[in-house]
Amino acid sequence: MPLIDVALPLPLFRTFSYRVPEGLTGSVTEGSRVVVPFRNRKEIGIVLGAAAPIGGVKYRDVIAAPDDAPVIDPPMLSLCRWIAEYYVTPLGVALRCALPAALTGAGSPVPSQRTRRVATIELELPSLLHRDRIFARSKQQRALYELLEQLGGRAAVDVLADQLKFSPSVLKGLVARGLVVVSEEVVSRDPFLTRERRAADSHRPSDAQRNALERLALAQPGHVALLHGITGSGKTLVYLELLRRVVLEEKRSAIVLVPEIALTPQTVDRFRAVFGDAIAVLHSGLSDGERYDAWLALRRGEKRIAVGARSAVFAPLRDLGAIVVDEEHESSYKQGDAPRYHAREVAIVRARAEGAVVVLGSATPSLESWTNAQSGKYELLSLPERAGGAQLPIVHVVDLRAERPTRKPSDHEEADAAFAMAISPPLEAALRSRLAKREQSILLLNRRGYASFIQCGACGDVAVCPNCSISLTYHRTPERLVCHYCQHTEALHRTCQRCGGQRLRQRGLGTQQVERLLAERFPSARIARMDVDTTSGKWAHTEILDRVGIGAVDILLGTQMIAKGLDFPNVTLVGVIDADVGINLPDFRASERCFQLLSQVAGRAGRGPKGGEVLIQTRAPSHHAVRCAVTHDYHAFVKEELASRRTPPYPPNVRIANVVVSGINEDATARLATRAVAWVHRLLAQHPSPGVTVIGPAPCPVERVQQRWRWHLLLKGDRPHELGRVARYLVEHFEVPHQHGLRMTLDRDPVALL
Ligand SMILES: [Zn+2]
Ligand SMILES: [Zn+2]
Repeated sequence: MPLIDVALPLPLFRTFSYRVPEGLTGSVTEGSRVVVPFRNRKEIGIVLGAAAPIGGVKYRDVIAAPDDAPVIDPPMLSLCRWIAEYYVTPLGVALRCALPAALTGAGSPVPSQRTRRVATIELELPSLLHRDRIFARSKQQRALYELLEQLGGRAAVDVLADQLKFSPSVLKGLVARGLVVVSEEVVSRDPFLTRERRAADSHRPSDAQRNALERLALAQPGHVALLHGITGSGKTLVYLELLRRVVLEEKRSAIVLVPEIALTPQTVDRFRAVFGDAIAVLHSGLSDGERYDAWLALRRGEKRIAVGARSAVFAPLRDLGAIVVDEEHESSYKQGDAPRYHAREVAIVRARAEGAVVVLGSATPSLESWTNAQSGKYELLSLPERAGGAQLPIVHVVDLRAERPTRKPSDHEEADAAFAMAISPPLEAALRSRLAKREQSILLLNRRGYASFIQCGACGDVAVCPNCSISLTYHRTPERLVCHYCQHTEALHRTCQRCGGQRLRQRGLGTQQVERLLAERFPSARIARMDVDTTSGKWAHTEILDRVGIGAVDILLGTQMIAKGLDFPNVTLVGVIDADVGINLPDFRASERCFQLLSQVAGRAGRGPKGGEVLIQTRAPSHHAVRCAVTHDYHAFVKEELASRRTPPYPPNVRIANVVVSGINEDATARLATRAVAWVHRLLAQHPSPGVTVIGPAPCPVERVQQRWRWHLLLKGDRPHELGRVARYLVEHFEVPHQHGLRMTLDRDPVALL
């Protein structure tokens, strides 16, 4: 293979040819990495195969080829080719996301594993007499030798030195006499290994669970099932039994995708209880080296189940038997940067190519998956009842319009009024009764910080981020204004920046404020707050949830983080402080997301024998997202929501690609977006593409982020292939000028249009 074709992780829709020097031909094969010169730097690329030389072209040489075996096998290469094609991304960019960062970094291409030195007894000394003679003049050596014996014949060198205080010369002496050898050993760094193991579940499957499992056992390779199970219906048990068959009986491998490991430690614990060391947990807190260790263990077949967030869909497993996508409706399965893939769709494509079955699980399936199940593209499996005879909680609506105080409070009523703005009297009473009964409560407020914005009482001006068209959120500890889009922070102003007015008001509740109000009202209650600000540490989520699990928390207050997967039988009350957060966002999925969040958080209540109750505070009780969450009626919600997406059509009634044009100059950005739309219109006139239309341009709902102005246009089409063709042509051929920082990105099947 003297000339090869290489994919580089660059925003260019082409591959590059390089010459392989004599000495490297042995380690250059399809799917292996090569270090190549590109312009005046080095890049790491993936070998795609042999290239045909073009006469007169001078090719540059490959600099290094670090792999003894390809890092991308042929099925993974075709999966990445599909991603590149469907999501309109260069192949090199798609390939990069299939590999752990340790293999794509610009530094040393071969990661060094963490090793430690271990001392092992080489020569056994049977008799005491023997020892007396050998160690006659070295008591220290004898002590160390006998300690090693007690430790089972081996110990880490740093433990001997640091903890047991043996000087290195003592060990050297033993080594010199051939009694002990010191060797390097690879250390496994999976932090989940140190987590306490729980016992495996002993539940027997219910009839509905057994039915689902029987249907899955009959499934053909590549089959996709949508497991629609209400909250608490035991979807995890179905996953566990499916994997028991696939991994333990058939000796194949499996992938379990969860929205975020940190938020679902209970689910992960249940898998570990059954499959133990066969699992590699791909946690977001892993270092690059740890991630690489896990990747190697999966590739070598030492681990046969990968559990992780969206990128675990690329786990290098062979003989894949099943892929589970838990909470398939979660938007975290969509990657925000190129390649903007959706892990659920990638899972389906991979499973079809490799002969695995796919289970998409959710209590509130995405409208896309639901429609596919209705059309017969996916098989629908239902778990319509809670496991163990538990009932869904009763949901009450607290209409905040009615609860609002009618007169201005007097001074001594001020504190009461502030509390009542957050926690209505019915919710307060419900909390009080849980505290009295030593039961636990969960409170959802999907807005972190102290107040959502600061507004001038005189002119109405709102403090806005200088980089983004977003109001700054007031944080109290530490006191500052923070932009939740770009992390810009500034000190709190004492006077209005526009009119100099002195009455600056905090508007909109945040979790910090509610935490303070609760602590003042219920001084003896143990309150935990869980949001982005309290969970920056690697294990912070798990620590908070573990405390709830052992009953050390009375009230868990948090953002949407607390809505997922938690299963605490002593939680008998869920309160939603403001159901309307996000309901009116200018996004076609706003209602769907609101319904999912309310249903999911309501599902945390009443999972044990004591039952449960949910109180939803809202100013929009008749909105279908709220109404259907109250009655636990997914089907009614879907019916209304699908109808509302018919005119104008939005997914799943049509496919879309969101094209965002951005730049630092407002006019140039708007002009480029306008030109792009005209360009697409001309393209569609010259090359008819049935069903494809272009909408826009318009400023994005969030007009400016990180000093960049943003405009967008939408490509819509009911035929995926035609839509993909137009999208690709636009991205590859529409010229974006190299000025004003102008950029164009395309997001196919976007989860949001903000
Ligand atoms: Zn003002
Ligand atoms: Zn900002």
